[in-house]
Amino acid sequence: MTDYMDKLRNCDEFFWINPGFVSPAAGAAEEKDEQIVDIDDAEARLLRFAPFIERMFPEVEGGIIESPLAEITDAAEVARLAGLTEASAKGRLFVKQDSHLPISGSIKARGGIYEVLKLAETLAVEAGLLHWDPQTGEHDDYAKLGDTEMKEFFSKYKVAVGSTGNLGLSIGIISAAIGFEVTVHMSADARQWKKDMLRSKGVTVVEYPDDYEAAVAQGRREAQADPTCHFVDDENSLDLFAGYSVAGRRLKRQLDELGVKVDKDHRMYVYLPCGVGGAPGGVAYGIRDEFGEGTYCFFAEPTHAPCMALGLISGKLNEIAVGDIGIDGKTEADGLAVGRPSGLVAKAMQTMLSGCFTVEDEKLYPYLAALKDSTGIFIEPSACAAFEGLKYICGGEYVPAPDENSIHVIWATGGNMVPEDEKTAYYERGKE
Ligand SMILES: *Cc1c(COP(=O)(O)O)cnc(C)c1O
Repeated sequence: MTDYMDKLRNCDEFFWINPGFVSPAAGAAEEKDEQIVDIDDAEARLLRFAPFIERMFPEVEGGIIESPLAEITDAAEVARLAGLTEASAKGRLFVKQDSHLPISGSIKARGGIYEVLKLAETLAVEAGLLHWDPQTGEHDDYAKLGDTEMKEFFSKYKVAVGSTGNLGLSIGIISAAIGFEVTVHMSADARQWKKDMLRSKGVTVVEYPDDYEAAVAQGRREAQADPTCHFVDDENSLDLFAGYSVAGRRLKRQLDELGVKVDKDHRMYVYLPCGVGGAPGGVAYGIRDEFGEGTYCFFAEPTHAPCMALGLISGKLNEIAVGDIGIDGKTEADGLAVGRPSGLVAKAMQTMLSGCFTVEDEKLYPYLAALKDSTGIFIEPSACAAFEGLKYICGGEYVPAPDENSIHVIWATGGNMVPEDEKTAYYERGKE
């Protein structure tokens, strides 16, 4: 452990294998993980809302917010960047394009939108304006939630969130569409275009010169003082986690359609960029629940903001922040610039996560350019952190190592809403 603590402190890159990982196969067959959220319930709720989503966002096919799964068939450049030869890069390589999730263009469209929809449902059912019977499953057509009278009803309620950017976008856009009065508390280093876009949709954006934690604290204080305000708590929200967890089932269906099997002889390695941990943690939980044996999830973090690795390696979970060991938390991977992990997620990942690795900022851009060149897909720098995991897993540092039957899934967490000029600048930086 001291060895890793030194690497963390020095902001060195490293790969850490979680000694606490429990394979779903290790227990009795009927022994399941402790239930954190009800995935069935979350999936059913998203289905009920599909007609509403389709009405408000006609571009969302069938009202189901889901992203494509693309295979990188020409992986030579990616392998080279990860320091691998094509021969050592065993298994098929897929990119899960949450970068292209509709409505808000990042993984936050899973958890963030889910939480706000659930709030709207709860309020409307309580007020007798919407019928849904959890016992029988009977319910109204949720498209009616887009009616003017409903918007007027929702305008009496407020939603608030503290965000480095993408969570703010998701919460802001969906809350405004429903009719909630919404405030996004942002750190000053958040991208200008995100602030501009939110303001253009009628969202109140409050900026703080301090860091992210200060912004969240302020948002939380204001919300708690107001009973009509719902605060979206990135660190502790089970609703966010539930929304993310549905991804496991959706991925299963996509792999089934492609005829790709996942089991103990057809292993799946999943690489997830991690900030506070909610998004990758929820996805990892959903994947484990859906696929069971043969799946291995790894978190990717910047060397200057490795909060989840620090929490897990030290065993202190959310009782320690990167600042406590002298790390500045400054990274260009703005979606991952978090100093303290979610306690809820860190605790769950103690047994569910296979490992963590850290990446230097400079490495993100070449991956960004290589993915664009080989597939035409653009993803933001934060999302590129995932690629670096191939170096360790294909390099044989993890047992079981991948073979010809294995697949790798790079979870591309964001990027589609980045303005064109910024996309070009990132790409050019990667080509240098
Ligand atoms: C938010 C975000 C993540 C990580 O999600 P957390 O819940 O903060 O761990 C990763 N990538 C991008 C692009 C993000 O916006």
